Amino acid sequence: MWTRPELKAVGHLDADCFYVSAERVRDEFLRGKPVGVLGNQGACVIAKSYEMKRAGVATGMPIWEALGKCPAGVYVKRDFRWYEVLSRLMLGVVREYSPRVEYYSIDEFFFAAVPARGQTFQELAGLIRDRIWERLGVPVTVGIARTRTLAKLISDAAKPFGARAVVDRRDEEALLIDRPVTEITGIAGRRAARLSPWGIVTCLDLARADRRLVRSLLTATGEALWWELNGEAVQPIQVQRPAHKALARGGSFGESTAEPVVLYAWLVRNLERLIEELEYHGVAAGRLNVWVVYKNGQSGAGQMTLAVPSDRFDLLLDAARPCLRRAWVPRALATHMHLIAEDLTPRRDCPLDLFDPAEHRSQAQAVARLKREINARHGRFVLRSAATLPLAAIYRDTANEYDICDIRGKLCF
Ligand SMILES: [Mg+2]
Repeated sequence: MWTRPELKAVGHLDADCFYVSAERVRDEFLRGKPVGVLGNQGACVIAKSYEMKRAGVATGMPIWEALGKCPAGVYVKRDFRWYEVLSRLMLGVVREYSPRVEYYSIDEFFFAAVPARGQTFQELAGLIRDRIWERLGVPVTVGIARTRTLAKLISDAAKPFGARAVVDRRDEEALLIDRPVTEITGIAGRRAARLSPWGIVTCLDLARADRRLVRSLLTATGEALWWELNGEAVQPIQVQRPAHKALARGGSFGESTAEPVVLYAWLVRNLERLIEELEYHGVAAGRLNVWVVYKNGQSGAGQMTLAVPSDRFDLLLDAARPCLRRAWVPRALATHMHLIAEDLTPRRDCPLDLFDPAEHRSQAQAVARLKREINARHGRFVLRSAATLPLAAIYRDTANEYDICDIRGKLCF
């Protein structure tokens, strides 16, 4: 294929079973074996190798079920901090080959595909894949196309360890012809159900459908996908993430609980994580939500608006307590909790709370600074609220230090 420097193209890079690959980078023993990575305090499989997938293990499967299907498997606990290290290294390699890279998720990037003089898109795709493999030992798949929607479809089709560029319409159509529309990011069950009465089942059906019809069925979002499938790039590569509307922290408890003191400990842990995030982004929360999910399917929520936006532990905890009380269902076993900060204001734009005495404020700020500095030097959560003591086991296990959503710079969470 010849090179057409005037043609703009987008690349999509996706690591192959990334968490497993990351574990294999530091432990050769795992190569070629069925490997599962466990999350949720070890309760379920959050990633599996192709060998384990062949044994019938699916993502999200509880460990006891996975063990039944794949007793010879090697099960390891997730370590998001290590995955983030590798992720940043992959990003560094891609940046050597592209002037614009979007960090879409921990193992997925979009990038402006710019071949060197005399190089084809196909060669560029292969080069990036091979370079990452040589330098880091992580297998990835790279797809290059005229738009990001097409690039992602191509890399999905070329997995694992694939490299493929498709920039001609005829090749694009061959790719789209037997792929169901649900393979497009952004078209899940409900949207697909709206399309099927019109005979739109495959990606090619969608690309060939009347644009106005697609817009009436799927709004402007669907129309954007229509353009993208037809080779018009309308979704740009986002080098910088847009400002947050909300920040959230929380997740599964691993072991469900009905103990108020344990629930309160989780509230404080999640709040400390949330404050790290507010500080990182330099914003203060104007409103706080606490959401608790129970084993019996019930859920509870509480919301509180702050007098003035804040990122201070004492003030946010004062707001969080009544929220938890509202979200609490006595004696019901709780499984998950989420804290959501909304109405985010850049900290420098926050007014002072006139009812918050100055000495109170400077004291709270001094404590926050001390906490930040000690934890930066001696390890995350070394200095934390005593209310988290009922969760001693969680803190003792270093694998719990990081959660996937604590990794920064992602667009998808
Ligand atoms: Mg992946």
